[in-house]
Amino acid sequence: MLDCAIIGGGPAGLTAGLYTTRGGLKNVTMFEMGMPGGQITQSSEIENYPGFFEHDKTGMDFMNTWQKQCFHFGLKHEMKKVERVSKTGEHFTVTLESGESVEAMTVVVCTGSTPKRAGFKGEDAFFGKGVSTCATCDGFFYKDKPVTVLGGGDTALEEALYLSNICSDVYVVHRRDTFRAAPPTIERIKKKSNIHLITDSVIEEAYGDAMGLAGVKIRNVKTDELTQMENTGLFVFVGHNVQNEVLKDENGAFICDVNDWGQVIVDLSMKTSVEGLYAAGDIRIEAPKQVVSAAGDGAVAALQVISTIQEQA
Ligand SMILES: Cc1cc2nc3c(=O)[nH]c(=O)nc-3n(C[C@H](O)[C@H](O)[C@H](O)COP(=O)(O)OP(=O)(O)OC[C@H]3O[C@@H](n4cnc5c(N)ncnc54)[C@H](O)[C@@H]3O)c2cc1C
Repeated sequence: MLDCAIIGGGPAGLTAGLYTTRGGLKNVTMFEMGMPGGQITQSSEIENYPGFFEHDKTGMDFMNTWQKQCFHFGLKHEMKKVERVSKTGEHFTVTLESGESVEAMTVVVCTGSTPKRAGFKGEDAFFGKGVSTCATCDGFFYKDKPVTVLGGGDTALEEALYLSNICSDVYVVHRRDTFRAAPPTIERIKKKSNIHLITDSVIEEAYGDAMGLAGVKIRNVKTDELTQMENTGLFVFVGHNVQNEVLKDENGAFICDVNDWGQVIVDLSMKTSVEGLYAAGDIRIEAPKQVVSAAGDGAVAALQVISTIQEQA
C-alpha cells in the first residue's frame, strides 16, 4: 500500500513528491504518463519564477533540475497513464491504463488543464514561440509592442485588459460581432483607448521562421478580406480542457465535487470533497495557472497528506 499516489508530474506533482518524501513518507509514487515536467516544458523561456532568471534557458531546462531534486529524496516515478481513481473503504485504488492497479492511503491529483487550440495554420508550429495562451506568463515579452488576442469570452477580454497595461496596442479578434463576456468587462474594454476590437474575424495564419512568430493574417468572415499584422505576439483564449478524466467513475460520474467547468473544488488545504483525496495545480478551481502557484499547491497538499497519514498511524 502506498502512503501517497501522486498523479501527474508537472510542477504541482513534483513539488507534492518533494514535500511528502522529504517530510518522511517512505512510500510515495508519482504516476506521470510522459516525461516529468508538465506543460511548462513546451515553453521557450520562463521569466516569472522567482530565483530563476536565465534568459538562455527553456522551460525544459528549468524543469530538469526539479526532477533531480525531487527524486533525490526518494520519490518513485512510474511512467504510466492513470485511468481512474476510486475509493474503496478507507483507501484508494489507482487503476492504470495497462489494467494494473495500485492501492494508496492518499491521492494527490495534479493532472493539469490544457489550453484548447483554435486550429489555425501555424498555431502548433509557433506555440510557445510567439503564440501563447497566458498573458501573465508572456505579456511582458511584448512590453510597449502591439499584440493580438483571439477570443470573445470572459477570459479573452480579462487577459486583453491585463495586456493593455503592458503592451502598446491590443487587437482583439473575435469571430462574431457581439462578445460573450460579462457586460461590465465589455464596458471596461471599451474605455481602454489602446484596445481595438476586430469583430467578424478569425486568425487565418500565424507565420514566422526559426526565430519565432513574425506576424498573423486575420480574415474577415463576412467579406473574406485578409489583413496582415506584422511584429505581434498572439494570445489565444478559446477555453481549457481540464484533465479530470481520472476522477470519473465507470459511469462517467465525478467521484468528488467539481464546478461547471470540471475544475476540482478544493479548500485552502487542497482537500477535495473526498477524505484523503487532494487536487493541486491547474486542475483546481480558481487556479492562477502559473508554475509558482502550482508548486505552492503541491506543497500545501503534501503537508496535508503527511498529517493524514500521521493521524491514521
Ligand atoms: C507554452 C507555455 C508557456 C507557459 N509559460 C509559463 C510561464 O512563463 N510562467 C508560468 O508561471 N507558467 C507558465 N505556463 C503555465 C504553467 O506551465 C502551468 O500553470 C503549470 O505547468 C501547471 O502545473 P500543473 O502541475 O498543475 O500541471 P501540468 O504542468 O499541466 O502537468 C500535468 C501533468 O499531468 C500529466 N497527466 C495528465 N493526465 C495524466 C494521467 N491520466 N496519468 C498520468 N499523468 C497524467 C501530464 O502529462 C502532465 O505532465 C506556461 C504554459 C505553457 C503551455
